[in-house]
Amino acid sequence: MQTHEIRRRFLEHFVRAGHTEVPSASLVLPDPNLLFVNAGMVQFKPYFLGQEAAPFRRATSVQKCVRTGDIEEVGVTTRHNTFFQMAGNFSFGDYFKEGAITFAWELITKSQEEGGYGFDPERIWVTAYESDPEAAEIWERVAGIPKERIQFRDGKDNYWDMGVPGPGGPCSEIYYDRGPKYGKEGGPVADEDRYIEIWNLVFMQDIRGELSPKLGHAPIGTLPKKNIDTGMGVERVAMLLQGVENVYETDLLRPIIDRAEQLTGRSYGVEHTDDVRFRVIADHVRSSAMLIADGVNPGNDGRGYVLRRLLRRIVRSARILGSEKPVMAEFMKVVSDLMAPSYPELATDFRRIETVAVGEETAFLKTLSTGSRLFDETVDQVRSKGGKKIAGTDAFTLHDTYGFPIDLTLEMASEAGLEVDEAGFRSLMAEQRDRAKADAQSRKHAHADLSIYKELVDRGATEFTGFDELTSEATVLA
Ligand code: ATP
Ligand code: MG
Ligand code: MG
Ligand code: MG
Repeated sequence: MQTHEIRRRFLEHFVRAGHTEVPSASLVLPDPNLLFVNAGMVQFKPYFLGQEAAPFRRATSVQKCVRTGDIEEVGVTTRHNTFFQMAGNFSFGDYFKEGAITFAWELITKSQEEGGYGFDPERIWVTAYESDPEAAEIWERVAGIPKERIQFRDGKDNYWDMGVPGPGGPCSEIYYDRGPKYGKEGGPVADEDRYIEIWNLVFMQDIRGELSPKLGHAPIGTLPKKNIDTGMGVERVAMLLQGVENVYETDLLRPIIDRAEQLTGRSYGVEHTDDVRFRVIADHVRSSAMLIADGVNPGNDGRGYVLRRLLRRIVRSARILGSEKPVMAEFMKVVSDLMAPSYPELATDFRRIETVAVGEETAFLKTLSTGSRLFDETVDQVRSKGGKKIAGTDAFTLHDTYGFPIDLTLEMASEAGLEVDEAGFRSLMAEQRDRAKADAQSRKHAHADLSIYKELVDRGATEFTGFDELTSEATVLA
């Protein structure tokens, strides 16, 4: 089943059940504290918080999401994209746990002929919050899932809150077992790569009191109206229904890998490290295009910095894979053709998107050639002293001053028959990171008042794309 069909079936299922279809919000909302929209519920925050009356009691959407916090996972795990589409259904004081579970179960298990996804019910596992036996009971009764395939988890995994006083509630996640070939038995608690998380149902019901996020989750009361917030990963469902190994090989991403093979002359599926780079290219090409489409420009901080890192990582990966020419224009064309059916702006605004992406590529290629000169000088010096190793400080200077990624330094050093003091490089990077972290920490505390945190409502603190991520972003090219 193609990705666009998965989206369509989701929306149809929920519209049929009385939900209002709401278009995706932009990836970039005015809120300066939220880097990018990273969950379907973000555009509905005011309704959940009771700041505004919801114009509908039930809504459904397929939201564009970017999670820069997942960047290190991209291409390495089978299931993390920086850009992905989160399909969701929402209840504002209308149906609650039993409704949410029933709707989800119907859609995933109804046969494909009847308009569902047709997952084998025997392969579905679910998790529930350790203090929420009710959810487990509903899964057993409504879906017939046996106790053995219902696992309880603590608040870290299965309780959602804002990290501050306010609404919160347990959640319940739906997993699909890919089988013994993919890892060890024992359910999602044992192996999240074999058991793939496809859908998260949040039961927003409590009022949380004290400001001790993730410690005990003691509710001080119950919300007057109970809400439902769910998020299903469209790419993950596509991966499973298309029978491919990972999200990067699904119908909307794989053609980017194919084009990368043509442009680099290297094949996908031969060597693990190459494959990771192919997958990074596919993922980042799409995220970059979607971000530029929503008005982000490459820059030195905030959102622009994230986009710059994504674009540079594409160029770097393609070069390491063997391309000597610019690649960006080609990649942007492929992704525009793939995504325009759902996001027409990628076609109508193509010239601008292409210009921005290619502009950054040109600038970075210049950086690379300056860095290459310094690299050659360094190699000459090492050789003239009869050495075999490029010093950590030199690798660091190449990275820090010339934006020269360590992968490239390592690769080129090995071509020149030299080693690199990588440990030295890493410890200099770590020092820099600690400095940045300390700095970010002080900025963060400066902002720690409630009104601002309220704006950071999110699917748990780990998903907040805040300053920490920006600093960790600095390590991405390392
Ligand atoms: P994981 O534990 O696999 O990182 P999560 O628990 O962080 O996922 P949620 O915050 O619950 O994810 O988001 C809801 C759904 O969105 C997930 O069940 C999953 O299907 C999908 N999803 C989350 N992160 C990603 C991602 N980086 N790429 C693709 N899909 C994702
Ligand atoms: Mg996650
Ligand atoms: Mg999870
Ligand atoms: Mg989850």
